[in-house]
Amino acid sequence: MSAGKGTMSPAKTAKDKIAEDSARFDSARFAPAEARPGSRKQSTAPPGAPPGDGGEREPGRDPGGNGQAPGMPGTSPAKDLGGMPASGDPAGLGRPAEAIAEYAWERTVELIRQADEIALACHVAPDGDALGSMLAAGRALRALGKRVVCSFGDRRFAVPRLLRFLPCQDLLSPPEDYPAEPELMITFDSSTLDRLGLLAPNATKATELVVVDHHPSNPGFGTLSLIDPDAAATAALVEQLIGRLGVPLDREMATCLYVGLVTDTGSFRHSSTTPAAHELAARLVAAGLRTDEIARELWDRSPFGYLKVLGAALERVALDDDLVWTYVSHVDRAAYGLPYDEVEGIIDVVRRTDEAEVAVVLKEDDDGLWQVSTRSKGAVDVGAICTALGGGGHARAAGFTSHQPVEQTMKRFRDLLGKAR
Ligand code: 5GP
Ligand code: MN
Repeated sequence: MSAGKGTMSPAKTAKDKIAEDSARFDSARFAPAEARPGSRKQSTAPPGAPPGDGGEREPGRDPGGNGQAPGMPGTSPAKDLGGMPASGDPAGLGRPAEAIAEYAWERTVELIRQADEIALACHVAPDGDALGSMLAAGRALRALGKRVVCSFGDRRFAVPRLLRFLPCQDLLSPPEDYPAEPELMITFDSSTLDRLGLLAPNATKATELVVVDHHPSNPGFGTLSLIDPDAAATAALVEQLIGRLGVPLDREMATCLYVGLVTDTGSFRHSSTTPAAHELAARLVAAGLRTDEIARELWDRSPFGYLKVLGAALERVALDDDLVWTYVSHVDRAAYGLPYDEVEGIIDVVRRTDEAEVAVVLKEDDDGLWQVSTRSKGAVDVGAICTALGGGGHARAAGFTSHQPVEQTMKRFRDLLGKAR
């Protein structure tokens, strides 16, 4: 982004901006993996081992293919509200280091083999990648004869309607039944400890905590990090883990993983849609899942009330310079008895706005808190802004929770957006 620019200059066309962006992305190089800040007794590498394993990246991979947006493994977006990937090659390696050390994979497999009971958790208000990744891993661990408990820390523990078609839900139990001090706990798609909600204290007390994730903002809050911001979805890392455990991928696991992959890549539309993402999809489809049925469940079903609430949200949508935004209140939903998770997709309609660089939808949940979804087309790192506001996510798709009313929340967001340009 051009420094000090408050609004989009009218002389600058969308085409100019795209040209600028692609030039920036071309020059963006990955920094080598480095010790993640904020981690406790991190054991991602044995004593004396170099950071990362120095492995080659796969040829032809999009260096911007981290989840939904280009980003910087090993750096903290929170410290970089400028937001764009750092250029250069600070360590002079000429190539990026692998995000996940081989040692971390091996140690994770060892811990799993040694454990009798394994506690799995994903982030609150789980999306397809969070729940799909956790359930696929749970099924694989159960196939190894482990006692498995899967949960997420929502106060109202319920699988979102959209994801109720997922197999393996018999693995789920409410947070009240979760082991208070698990010997081995594994988290999925949770970018911070806080995102575990009610299960955060359990994670803090776990003897070993393996963090499986692909958010660049993840500080590495466990004892072991399987964090790769270059992975299209957490599900991609889980598929690797299942393979390393020697468990054959069955249709149920593949369905769960595919839901994670297809939702996090926006149906293979985002920049995370690399050859590796398509290769993973091919392996999953080969396991016998029904892509048509999954697509229908995910995108072609809504209660009637959704159309009415979408209508209300679009009625009040605003375009301020290059920011498009709207909100959905609890009252909007209550009029049609529409559950909170049904409005998650409204951001995908709002972000289409050609004139806007950044899209925001504030959604009031059943506790009166505002869950804020943000999207960027690439010139602004909304992940950095949301991290600064106590949330997190990717450079182009991120979120945070606000206890303040809509206008105040938007003011805080706009202030940071102004600084990020
Ligand atoms: P969505 O807007 O679809 O809910 O989320 C977009 C991205 O931002 C996802 O990667 C999600 O995990 C992340 N995200 C959304 N809300 C929060 C939040 O409150 N805290 C953090 N750390 N990440 C969030
Ligand atoms: Mn994800």
